[in-house]
Amino acid sequence: MFGKRSKKILAIAALSAAITSGTAFAGDLTVYSTSDIHGSVIGWNYFTAKEADLGLAKVSTIINEGRKNKGQDDDILVIDGGDILQGTPLDTYMVQHPNEWKAGQHPMFAAFNKIGYDAIELGNHEFNFGLDYLRKAIGKNKNVLGANVIDDKTGKTWNGVRPYLMKTVKIDGEKVKVGIIGTDTPAIPNFEDPSHFAGVHFTDQVPVIKQCIKELKAQGADIIIGVTHSGVPRGDRNSAENQVVSIAEACPELSLLICAHNHVVIDNQKGVTGPDGTVYSDGVINGVPVVESGKDGKFVGVSKLTLKKADGKWTVQKVSTQAVSTKGVKDDPAIVAQVKPWHEKTLKHLQTVIGQAADEFSGAESNHQDSAIVDLVNEVQRHYAGTQLSASASFNTSQNIDKGPITLQEMSGLYIYENYLYGIEINGAELRKYMEHAASFYGTTPDYNYDMIQGVDYTIDMTKPVGSRITKLQYKGKDVKDTDTFTMAINDYRMNGGSGYMAAMGYTNGKKPKVIFDSMRKYGDDGQMRALMIRYVQEKGTITPTCDHNWNVIK
Ligand SMILES: [Zn+2]
Repeated sequence: MFGKRSKKILAIAALSAAITSGTAFAGDLTVYSTSDIHGSVIGWNYFTAKEADLGLAKVSTIINEGRKNKGQDDDILVIDGGDILQGTPLDTYMVQHPNEWKAGQHPMFAAFNKIGYDAIELGNHEFNFGLDYLRKAIGKNKNVLGANVIDDKTGKTWNGVRPYLMKTVKIDGEKVKVGIIGTDTPAIPNFEDPSHFAGVHFTDQVPVIKQCIKELKAQGADIIIGVTHSGVPRGDRNSAENQVVSIAEACPELSLLICAHNHVVIDNQKGVTGPDGTVYSDGVINGVPVVESGKDGKFVGVSKLTLKKADGKWTVQKVSTQAVSTKGVKDDPAIVAQVKPWHEKTLKHLQTVIGQAADEFSGAESNHQDSAIVDLVNEVQRHYAGTQLSASASFNTSQNIDKGPITLQEMSGLYIYENYLYGIEINGAELRKYMEHAASFYGTTPDYNYDMIQGVDYTIDMTKPVGSRITKLQYKGKDVKDTDTFTMAINDYRMNGGSGYMAAMGYTNGKKPKVIFDSMRKYGDDGQMRALMIRYVQEKGTITPTCDHNWNVIK
């Protein structure tokens, strides 16, 4: 029972509540976001075996700092945009040693849990190893999203994940209900083995997000944030793979859209170029601020949403986005300690001998003269693509293969990019244009632009005018005619326009040469050139350095 005095206090409380309801509240909600971490926890490059400015341990340090310095009226959320379980040898180790770990112990999810991620969206690579593997990696984490990952049987969101979450944060002492919707790129069947996602399918993101917005509003969401493993389309506006422009145009209710997949950095400063060359110089599309943080934890998105509550309603006053580099940031020792056993097992595994070298392959001069090491890369490309010719640059002049046992580490360091392999059909005239273009990169940096061709004999005369520098060009002892046709192996970076080789051959506006081999289609992630290099050595057992001196340069 209330006494006289208690009644008086209650009356004062009621009065002050009445005053408060007319008062404005304000503060900042800071959203830390990552994308495409691809198995990077410690600041270590497993391919080059060197320390590197990347990984969740550095991300954690930045978030810890943010938590420490946050104002009394402010709050924080941490969100990841997916591509978690594939990328580094650490990820590969977990896949290849499933009996060494239990559900929830995967080092990436263990790190997410320790850092305190509020939401994690699945990426396309989460489906690389099947749904059982994915479930095991997720463990008991209830913050994993994938609204458009639909169960074939129920027609609803797959029960391994949730369509959205409602998080309550505190701004200026007042509760704010924040809805977070997560969706994945529906283009997964274009690059994934169907058995890996048997039982689910992926639907267009836009209608799913619209439905989730409706439901979240009905549940009283004050603000709504989107996270998509999908990016800003570069060419095709209606790309199924990259739907960020469509999402932003259809869902202006989103106060922030965290995106991923393209491995680029988007924030207020960097902006982004969309389809038809449309430039969003501040990274804001149809009023929706978009943020993407590159890959491997080299950046953390820091988005500040300034909120105000007036007349009982929260509104977003202003949003700023900034992708902060992890360069020079120290690894969080707590995250390092947790991942260390797996990191050390991975390093040990990389010392596995996969074959023998009959003699030394030296990378030192391989970017400006014919070498056994680039001939090896080209031979691997020709072998798997089944082509007459192959084109490749030298990617790492500091990596040699020593005589004797070859380790996984050595082969991983030789081909340092995540390229896939294509076999294409071109004619003699196009080949000549390709080689002319290569000649324009001879002796320049970065040296990865300079392609060397295997399968033809040729001379580059740098004293001749541009356009006529390929003075000798023979296939099996015969001069190449413009009308001859050849098959040639190139990497996907070249195929997609990298270094301008496609344009040099006249393939512009999305036109491409005829494809006769696509390693991603054929082998999935094992179709990466690095994996093919390893496979080649394993198949051959012993490799012998041979350099056929099929080309030379006159300077
Ligand atoms: Zn990725």
